[in-house]
Amino acid sequence: MAPIALHPLLDNGITPGSPSFAGGKLSCKCASDPVEVTLGSNVAHNHACGCSKCWKPPGALFSVVGVVPREKLSVTAHGEKLAVVDPSATIQRHACKACGVHLFGRIEAEHPFKGLDFVHVELSGDKGWQEPQFAAFVSSIIEHGFHPSRIGEVRGRFKELGLESYDALSPALMDAIATWTAQKAGRLPSSL
Ligand SMILES: [Zn+2]
Ligand SMILES: [Zn+2]
Repeated sequence: MAPIALHPLLDNGITPGSPSFAGGKLSCKCASDPVEVTLGSNVAHNHACGCSKCWKPPGALFSVVGVVPREKLSVTAHGEKLAVVDPSATIQRHACKACGVHLFGRIEAEHPFKGLDFVHVELSGDKGWQEPQFAAFVSSIIEHGFHPSRIGEVRGRFKELGLESYDALSPALMDAIATWTAQKAGRLPSSL
């Protein structure tokens, strides 16, 4: 059987990012007039994601997606080519209409992650981006047709790479969501 191809940023081992890296540019795949997004900081919570909605390169089982504060992201070229993929989704994924690459995802509704934009650092030629920290929504790949008999290989491969596999987000992010929900419901004080 062919080896499991998770994602180009994972398959040959993980390259550690640089703590002093201060951001860079992302571009779509268009050969002419690419959309360019400039990030004024490194990403955080960068991770492999097995959901169906995150953009991933052809042949990859997972996307790799991280976040930056919304005010650190600007569209610096050819924003006219961007459109929201699914306006009803919580995360509004802004994709290039010509090549289909997702340049950034933004939350406009009330949500614990509002204020953070979701981005894919493989769209950058710059080096130093935070390396993937964990794998999220691993079991979701089965929902999209991955054979369940091989899911152990996938989890084993993440383990080899030093990444924990989760079937939701990481505990830190799940706790952040639960805290926000409790605060909204008045079960916890609004500042902790
Ligand atoms: Zn494009
Ligand atoms: Zn995802």
